[in-house]
Amino acid sequence: MPEPEPFRIKMIEPLTLLSREERLKRIRSVGYNVFKLRARDVYIDMLTDSGTSAMSDLQWAKMLTTEQAYAGSTSFELLEESVADILGFPQFLPVHQGRAAENILFSLTVRDGDFVPNNMHFDTTYANVKHKGGTPVNLVVDEAYRPGQEGDFKGNMDISKLRDFIDETGSEKIPVIMLTVTNNTAGGQPVSMENIREVSEVAKEHDIPFFLDACRFAENSYFIKSREKGYENVPIRDIVREMFSYADGFTFSAKKDGLANIGGILGVRDLELHKKAVELGIVIEGFPTYGGMACRDLAAIAQGLREATDPEYLRYRHQQVKYLGDRLDDAGVPISKPVGGHAVFVDGKEFLPHIPQVQFPAQALTAELYVEGGIRGVELGTSAFGETDEDGNVIPATLEYMRMAIPRRVYTLTHLDYVADTVISLYHRRDDIKGLERTYAPKLLGHFMSEFKPL
Ligand SMILES: *Cc1c(COP(=O)(O)O)cnc(C)c1O
Repeated sequence: MPEPEPFRIKMIEPLTLLSREERLKRIRSVGYNVFKLRARDVYIDMLTDSGTSAMSDLQWAKMLTTEQAYAGSTSFELLEESVADILGFPQFLPVHQGRAAENILFSLTVRDGDFVPNNMHFDTTYANVKHKGGTPVNLVVDEAYRPGQEGDFKGNMDISKLRDFIDETGSEKIPVIMLTVTNNTAGGQPVSMENIREVSEVAKEHDIPFFLDACRFAENSYFIKSREKGYENVPIRDIVREMFSYADGFTFSAKKDGLANIGGILGVRDLELHKKAVELGIVIEGFPTYGGMACRDLAAIAQGLREATDPEYLRYRHQQVKYLGDRLDDAGVPISKPVGGHAVFVDGKEFLPHIPQVQFPAQALTAELYVEGGIRGVELGTSAFGETDEDGNVIPATLEYMRMAIPRRVYTLTHLDYVADTVISLYHRRDDIKGLERTYAPKLLGHFMSEFKPL
């Protein structure tokens, strides 16, 4: 039996489940692309865990009691205290989102022809390195590419790949080494403390700054506590501080483990680099005590960092994701295993083996899930990552997933049971699901705007 949620509900938002006929009409009208649905036409929204968290009473209270001041607001002081207490970090800059932190960091460090290694770059990190003339390089362990293979820390950097890469490239061409915790792109898989320490040592040996992409640092610490030898009895907050102690800096999206709806942080240990970041920040984000946000947003993040590292919260959070994964797995639905920290990934290739990848099985599954139960997941397969050749033929992506991300503190176990039941009934009638033909695809970030029709 799962344990009850460690909170009760004091404000509610009514949900409406449209009729099947209405849902069919809606999905047809948006070309079978759930990005184009209206949020109010969705019953359970699992498009993303980013910026969709429910905030606590204390977060709202602190948002109301800070001044909205251009300079020196109380909320900035609260954020300073949290960053020092929780992350143990001396200097930082608030920014409006994670990608703004990436923009500032890479603008100051990456030059034309440089390389940035990472276990796996998230898409905005990838794009920001490219934008500054650099080449993003993924050096994750090989297990990351084998969905279904069990493993405790499938998000780890492959240390020998990293050493080889530095030897071949030369450290002068590597301005920064990144490590993403948890590894979002590979299904929210965690990185071990041992790996974080080793990457930091390799970076130090070569005099290269080491930065964490820390969006899901709290979820990652929970995995370290529950899976890594020697950390069973270490408090979460100590694990968090140890993780950050190895880093020269970090980029952070408060829309994930900040439990806020907007915001980000760029942490920088080096005084010179911090000064430059503040100067550039003023040009593109705002004065460093608000950083492109309303002052109340800083208050929400300051309190959110404390709540995200609460052991009871983290146990509940982890249990929710695992609960949905286990229910699907027990019913034989093909999912990526073990489940990561923020989402369950359904394997579209195995779910719909009768649909060839050029007919977008994961996209078809995502559209059908909406029709079946008003649930919105997201396709991470050939529509998102596939290519097209000169003649316009679709070249399939390696992995073909439908992701169901779980917003933090938003849905109850009953909601997740409804999601599991819906996916399972869809699995039982999977032979009826047909492939799709893409009728429209823009060149860049195509999956947001593409359109399809059933075959
Ligand atoms: C979300 C995310 C980002 C970017 O953060 P935004 O706030 O969306 O700009 C960067 N890295 C990872 C791993 C993420 O999950």
